[in-house]
Amino acid sequence: MQSILPLSTQPVKPGTSTGQQFWQSTEKTIESYSPADGQLIARVHPSTRADYDRVVETAQAAFQEWRLVPAPRRGEIVRQMGEQFRRYKRELGTLVSYEMGKSLQEGLGEVQEIIDICDFAVGQSRQLYGLSMHSERPAHRMVEQWHPLGVVGIISAFNFPVAVWSWNAMLAWVCGDVCIWKPSEKTPLTALACQQIIGEVLRNNDVPEGVSCLITGGRDAGEWLARDPRIALVSATGSTRMGKAVAEAVAGRLGRSLLELGGNNAIIISEHADLDLAIPAVVFGAVGTAGQRCTTTRRLIVQDSIYDDVKNRLKSAYAQLRIGSPLDESFHVGPLIDQQAVKSYQLAVNEIRESGGRFIVEPGLLEGLGFESGCYVRPCIAEAENQWSVVQRETFAPILYLLRYSTLDDAIRQQNAVPQGLSSAIFTLNMREAERFLSAVGSDCGIANVNIGTSGAEIGGAFGGEKETGGGRESGSDAWKAYMRRQTNTVNYGTALPLAQGITFEL
Ligand code: NAD
Repeated sequence: MQSILPLSTQPVKPGTSTGQQFWQSTEKTIESYSPADGQLIARVHPSTRADYDRVVETAQAAFQEWRLVPAPRRGEIVRQMGEQFRRYKRELGTLVSYEMGKSLQEGLGEVQEIIDICDFAVGQSRQLYGLSMHSERPAHRMVEQWHPLGVVGIISAFNFPVAVWSWNAMLAWVCGDVCIWKPSEKTPLTALACQQIIGEVLRNNDVPEGVSCLITGGRDAGEWLARDPRIALVSATGSTRMGKAVAEAVAGRLGRSLLELGGNNAIIISEHADLDLAIPAVVFGAVGTAGQRCTTTRRLIVQDSIYDDVKNRLKSAYAQLRIGSPLDESFHVGPLIDQQAVKSYQLAVNEIRESGGRFIVEPGLLEGLGFESGCYVRPCIAEAENQWSVVQRETFAPILYLLRYSTLDDAIRQQNAVPQGLSSAIFTLNMREAERFLSAVGSDCGIANVNIGTSGAEIGGAFGGEKETGGGRESGSDAWKAYMRRQTNTVNYGTALPLAQGITFEL
């Protein structure tokens, strides 16, 4: 396997990606353990405040140059990055799987997402379109254009350790911005690998130092970005708790934030559903990435007349699930990220029992050979009620709540009656039901699907959700606009000075 990390016995240090690095010596390190086997796989220096300030200054200086590079040329550099990720897909995908614990297939899928967004961003670099408007005044022309914004701070979560960065960074770069990435302290190594992979492209193209920067650390480092008026946009992905703190700090300085926060996603299964499609979609949605996707299926809302049938089919599907190392492709379900996550799972399980929930597939912690990390849990299913507080919150683990409904409006009401609004789906072959679910009185989520599950979005659409999910949109469609500033231009090419709204002003 080719190396995608600097080979050294010393802890790896953050900085900018084209060679020059800034750091103060510090005794502290962030330790990255693989949840797959519990091994310590790296120690990384956290950035100090002084490192951070130097990185921001370098990024600001780089922005002065980068914004002048024509957008299609910036796109060409992003195209070359996509080629690099194609070259290193297996190595990076394997590292994602090992450091984060998702299956190798999903690790490779995450790198494919980077490649896809690179391709998308290349096309976008020639389509940063503004509009032209007809002026109400004679001999006047009105247009709007989009300009680069500045320094973009990217705070990312552990569960998509590389893809979420790329959704932001690739678009931000073609838009003429420079980026400072603060990855999750739980997955610093994959972030360093990405910087290493694109470093060669940046150097080969003489891209100014500071266009792509990385700072490492936990909450403190995220707070530096959120509070810093030099950061034009803070794009933050993570828990709702984190999003509220970032939103408050950024709003306090009237900055811009783009928030991608927690979900509590439901699938409705109607009596008109094709269960051969629905059951595998539910199982993948609920247990994929061990229930640690923002789009994980957490609630299943099933019509009364097929409730028992669905329940029995789910029981037999879950009985076939094999749990084990994410790097071994014969297993369906890998570990949770760490033992703290296992505790949250256990707390939720206890709360479900106390609330009166009944498990139809039992939970549990796996021990013994192959499970030494202490992070492997059994995916479980509980019969529950939507209003219970445990059902209302996002537990980042493979727990599926089974709910029932009689009328479609009742199902939609339950689906919407949670604080989050990320992803949703209905399985039905009835066109009226499907269209009602997608209509203004249907799902209140940012993503609403028919006959596919809640997770596994493509990069071409705008990704994000409403309510406590934060309202941000990333990736495809017109999400690029978040990374630019809009300017309206009115040009008078006549010989008079008419005022808008017919106002007269004579000297
Ligand atoms: P987390 O909120 O614990 O951490 C996310 C990031 O925020 C980390 O880099 C962390 O260091 C930083 N951070 C924490 N507190 C901060 C603060 N006060 N100020 C600034 N930065 C701070 O989340 P996590 O456990 O890494 O990830 C899981 C969560 O992320 C889930 O809620 C999941 O739904 C959500 N998520 C959402 C999306 C989406 O697109 N909507 C995608 C992936 C994950």
